[in-house]
Amino acid sequence: MEYRFEQQRIVGGIGADDEYWRGLERGEFRLPRCAGCGRWTWPAHFRCGACGDWEMEWQALEPKGTIYSWTRSWYAFERVKERTVDLPYVTALVAIPEAGGARVLGVLVGDETQLRVGAPVIGEILPPSEKAKGYASIVWRLAGETASTSPRV
Ligand SMILES: [Zn+2]
Repeated sequence: MEYRFEQQRIVGGIGADDEYWRGLERGEFRLPRCAGCGRWTWPAHFRCGACGDWEMEWQALEPKGTIYSWTRSWYAFERVKERTVDLPYVTALVAIPEAGGARVLGVLVGDETQLRVGAPVIGEILPPSEKAKGYASIVWRLAGETASTSPRV
């Protein structure tokens, strides 16, 4: 079965981040920037909070950043029972310097030995899957680690 986020859309969003998901489905990591003042606006909005412009430009970026914060999940949450087999797992909030420090969430894969705030990470885009509820996703791996372990996501 082919998965696309638009067919399995999670209810409740306003759709401002649709371009983010479309980009990931094409294997591109893109974030929005205001066409008026250049401010990065992530999480996505339809209108710039700084200058009021309605036009956003989605720019492709290298998926590179640093750990801003992270947490380890030890229990399965009701709406992500698919992740039960991965427990425990780490979710990282990654600051993207190239995007003005915008922070992007994703699961951390691979060796966690050097996991700490400020550690450099590299993103890896995974195709849409049933486990990810039809969405493509980005996972983070600590920089310098070899991709010897495959993501469980
Ligand atoms: Zn603006």
